[in-house]
Amino acid sequence: MENKIDILIIYTGGTIGMIKDPKTGSLKPFNFEGVYDQIPELKRFHYHLDFYCFDPLIDSSDINPAHWIQLAEVIEKNYESFDGFVVLHGSDTMAYTASALSFMLENLNKPVIFTGSQLPLGVLRTDGKENFITAIELAAATEDNTPLIPEVCIYFENHLLRANRTVKYNAENFNAFVSPNYPALAEVGVYLKYNKHQILKPNFKKLKVHKVLDNRIVILKLFPGISKEAVEAIINIPDLKVMILETFGSGNATMEEWFITALKTAVENGLHIINVSQCPAGAVEQGKYDTSLKLKEIGIISGYDITTEAALTKSMFLLGQNLTPGKFRVIMNLPLRGEITVY
Ligand code: ASP
Repeated sequence: MENKIDILIIYTGGTIGMIKDPKTGSLKPFNFEGVYDQIPELKRFHYHLDFYCFDPLIDSSDINPAHWIQLAEVIEKNYESFDGFVVLHGSDTMAYTASALSFMLENLNKPVIFTGSQLPLGVLRTDGKENFITAIELAAATEDNTPLIPEVCIYFENHLLRANRTVKYNAENFNAFVSPNYPALAEVGVYLKYNKHQILKPNFKKLKVHKVLDNRIVILKLFPGISKEAVEAIINIPDLKVMILETFGSGNATMEEWFITALKTAVENGLHIINVSQCPAGAVEQGKYDTSLKLKEIGIISGYDITTEAALTKSMFLLGQNLTPGKFRVIMNLPLRGEITVY
């Protein structure tokens, strides 16, 4: 008997699953039981497709870590029965959810491909159909009976990107996501061209799903003229554990004395401060300029070329592991799932 590939499609919500209400003309989620009517092309796949729908469906701006845990649990429960997973998700926070899942799913040896769309499936010019169909194809791709992409990824408009390297970059263009610091894992045109040496290798170990996430984190974006009151108010949030400091260029910040003193005191009191650049491309190099050397000296952790989305979700994951402060610092600087490049 033919050995069919089984793909689980998890629909969380977002624009992709919308159709126009014929009466009101407004967009509303369509019932996924009718998916074969919406996209008859799905019937032509030789794979077995199964569906799991979040109830209620979530606009991705409403997503939170409890939904990430729910998603991880659905994948965990179905992991042995399926060869790959496609997650339909709103594009607004897709980079956060997909980054979080990359850390939560340790020893992932099967594809988890996120996709969505800028225009709903029920709209004639939708980008959702191609994104959806190709995401299924990518989730089903194998070589020597082993999944080709044992990673959490985002597929959008011809590019397959490592999830924890992505940023939503365009609110209108079909090409909504970029991965400024890591090449695409596959380019899709007439052919599906895999950049095999950029894709993580499977380790064939048992999947371990981490379900404790800690959100005692804040993101502080620096700007010229930021006040002492604003910085101190943020640093003094009760029980704060991590502050992601979005700095200028290659990790630079003002060297005003009040600023350095505030950060130094916070680090001494146990706050992890992670230096992430406001530039989407390139890396933090603490010590390259005088304006970042001081940050290194007072114990600010370099984020290297990490995205804010990955720094945030990795921090939530690491805080959930209850690590010693030393271990947190060490692991923050190790590429756990390919999220940073350390030279
Ligand atoms: N607001 C929608 C969402 O993120 C937009 C989209 O689906 O792209 O859920």
